[in-house]
Amino acid sequence: MKKTSTSLQILSLLENCHCHLSAAEIYEQLRPQLPAVAPSTVYRILERLVHTGQVSISDMGGGTEVYEIANQRHHHLVCERCHTVLTLSDAEIQPLFESLQQRHSFVISTNHLVLFGICEKCRSGS
Ligand SMILES: [Zn+2]
Ligand SMILES: [Zn+2]
Repeated sequence: MKKTSTSLQILSLLENCHCHLSAAEIYEQLRPQLPAVAPSTVYRILERLVHTGQVSISDMGGGTEVYEIANQRHHHLVCERCHTVLTLSDAEIQPLFESLQQRHSFVISTNHLVLFGICEKCRSGS
């Protein structure tokens, strides 16, 4: 598969920001450098990068799916009230994945697990 410069730009954007961006946000940020690129092209490339495992896609509870570079496996706890995002290292989740894989003879491909709940601040506050 030939790597277009657009996909490289998307990858470097995600790599540099180390954050979660929606497809629309990625398009907005690329537009100054790539004024000729159509949103549909950006969406198609994102889909392909997700497919090849270079980018993860998740629902972080904001109603839109967000993309993130997948070069470092990690997971999140997301507060449903204040939308605070806590990041978990892969080491915290890996034992769970491993025991699930063994018990169910299942290979997990999820590389970005998002768990929803209520954070400490929201539980104690008001
Ligand atoms: Zn993430
Ligand atoms: Zn909260």
